[in-house]
Amino acid sequence: MTRWPVHPAPVPGEALTSWLRRIAHRHGAEVQDLVLDLGYCLSCPEDLDTVPPEGFIDHLAARTGAATDTIRAMTLNGQTPWLLDQLQPAAQAYTTYTRQLTVLLPPGRRRDRAVDHWRPWAPTDAGWQHRACPLCTMESSPPCPYQLTWLVPLMLSCPVHHCRLERYNGPVGYHDIWHTSLGGPAPRPVNAAIRRMDERTWQALTTGHVALPRHRVHAGIWFRLLRTLLDELGATLTECGTYGRLTREVWERAGHPVRAGQHPWRPYEHLTDQQQTQSLEAAATAIHLLETRVLAGLGHEAALFLPPPNMTRDPGRPHQTMDPTALRWQEIKDSLDATVEEARTTPETARQLFNFCTMYRGEDDHIVREVRGSFTKLGIPLEYLSPMNDPHRL
Ligand SMILES: [Zn+2]
Repeated sequence: MTRWPVHPAPVPGEALTSWLRRIAHRHGAEVQDLVLDLGYCLSCPEDLDTVPPEGFIDHLAARTGAATDTIRAMTLNGQTPWLLDQLQPAAQAYTTYTRQLTVLLPPGRRRDRAVDHWRPWAPTDAGWQHRACPLCTMESSPPCPYQLTWLVPLMLSCPVHHCRLERYNGPVGYHDIWHTSLGGPAPRPVNAAIRRMDERTWQALTTGHVALPRHRVHAGIWFRLLRTLLDELGATLTECGTYGRLTREVWERAGHPVRAGQHPWRPYEHLTDQQQTQSLEAAATAIHLLETRVLAGLGHEAALFLPPPNMTRDPGRPHQTMDPTALRWQEIKDSLDATVEEARTTPETARQLFNFCTMYRGEDDHIVREVRGSFTKLGIPLEYLSPMNDPHRL
């Protein structure tokens, strides 16, 4: 298969149809023309962002030279099993995805529910409308690249500009019309809680993990934590019982009606556009309240949102010194303690710490032996130093 002459590089987080539109534009063609050239005939090319047909990605990789993994990540299907358990709806999918973790409510409060044809985060006709960042779309020449996250109810803000994603009703990919004929929406900043939640979601999508105050969690856990919070905030008053005071307080502080005004119960994916927006805002508020200890979650995973231990106040120290040199050394010691703690469970941190400790060893193997001995005493597994555990090895 010969390569297409021009193929602009995908931008991080870009949706597959966005990239195809940009390639087609460079050839004076349409997406359908490229699809036909790859040997496919699709009635609805938009479905490519969800699950491309068998072999499509391999053919596209051959035409463009892009890696298949890069192309797969531009589709919802490429996000399994982190964002989605599986693309095809399954009978117990809802319970599996939303009931394994608990944050605000104690375990066992929410009723098991079977939702037909349910997929987490999947947009429906009633829900999430296409959204776009006013600044991203203003800064790029048409056709503007658009993000996969603009198409699904997962983030409220742009991870680059930290302004709110705004509803866009024009033709997808031709956001320049937004700015020229309609004046375009003015960028609206989001509050710190939303920004922090979205930064973590973006980190999960782009790096595969999220740094929470006390733990680093896998992207799959982050998406389930977020979806669990949305489910808890949408739980009925009967399910919540007396613990409903927790969810009510979150809704009040978020400034929205309890359960975004929904009645009767529906899963988050089936809510209206406005209800989904309010629910995501309430989830951001809940995380903020947990991390500032205003609210104490009763679920097993609530501890993930506890703030980091306060390193500056140690009741064991009789006198807090104000001497800047002593304070600096205390800071270094505290940082080192935290790094050792992390190195016990994180190979990459263990390797970085080892390299730091043996930085000035020269030809002296004695230092290497000493450091390895110290690692053993500190409980840092030496197998973490093996090149087999290095994700960057060739
Ligand atoms: Zn932006």
